[in-house]
Amino acid sequence: MIIVMKSWAEQEHIDKVVQRLAAIGCEAHISVGQSRTVIGAIGDREVIQQQPWRAMAGVERAVPVEKPYKFVSREFQPEDTVIKVGSAQIGGGVFAPMAGPCAVESRDQLFRTAQAVREAGATILRGDAFKPRTSPFSFQGLAEEGLQLLAEARQEFDMPFVAEVLDPREVELVASYADILRIGTRNMANFALLSEVGKVHKPVQLKRGFTATIDEWLNAAEYIYKEGNHEVVLVERGIRTFETATRNTLDISAVPVIKHMSHLPVIIDPSHSSGRRHLVVPLARAAIAVGADGFIVDVHPAPETAQVDGDQALLPSEFEELMDQMRNLAAALDLTI
Ligand code: PEP
Ligand code: MN
Repeated sequence: MIIVMKSWAEQEHIDKVVQRLAAIGCEAHISVGQSRTVIGAIGDREVIQQQPWRAMAGVERAVPVEKPYKFVSREFQPEDTVIKVGSAQIGGGVFAPMAGPCAVESRDQLFRTAQAVREAGATILRGDAFKPRTSPFSFQGLAEEGLQLLAEARQEFDMPFVAEVLDPREVELVASYADILRIGTRNMANFALLSEVGKVHKPVQLKRGFTATIDEWLNAAEYIYKEGNHEVVLVERGIRTFETATRNTLDISAVPVIKHMSHLPVIIDPSHSSGRRHLVVPLARAAIAVGADGFIVDVHPAPETAQVDGDQALLPSEFEELMDQMRNLAAALDLTI
């Protein structure tokens, strides 16, 4: 059961609910969001359901939830979560195109890419300063210098940016620069990191672990939500299957499945799923048709020189063409882009 408090509820109202739960031998998981507090009631379902929760001061509603993940479920919140970041929006009938280099390599590379994707119509810039590399000898990112360059690009091109955070000890640093934090596929089940970004008041993109089921992914999102950060965006970025023609297999069906199960926005990463430039455009187009709330695409002004993921980066001109097609698709589907 989840007990949703009214927006005006005071601490004493919350305390009374927690005390009532304790009195019937149950535990309370409190999640203090920006607009309201929600309390997850853990214990004997029958006993919890018998309580007249709505009669208590400050309680808006009590929702029975069957799933192990509660806060991110549709049962808990029937209406879609809509996230606003600066002038950009994710969800609520707005398709959010996010694009930029996989990694920030230099000011010139970042600024050329940011200008191109902005002019083409992207609303959020991507670019990482900390890279999770398979080999410890590969380029690991420019660290804080990369974040500084991203902050300058935000200013110059008037677009918020998303950057990956790899380590719980670096959450504060990345959050002090980035508008949106991203948890990569390798860290989807890093529960210490999830809890840490759950304490930040900035949206978080949570990529699906490449071997994770949808249930495991939603439970990971629950770790963030539970700490009070309710602005979570799910990113389908492909899963590992027996197929070798693509880097990973984009699980396109995950989008409508998630839409049914959860109120959180979900976007697609056609770059890291396919790993091949010629597959990015068709998969990006599929994102809008299947009901995703956006995409995140790698773009590089000279992919052949890229330090990371050059094989999958679109050229700025290819991204521009993709965006023209996306605008047509959005119009056909009655969506804003
Ligand atoms: C990325 O987006 O740059 C990235 C490393 O993605 P993933 O975690 O999905 O591999
Ligand atoms: Mn990458």
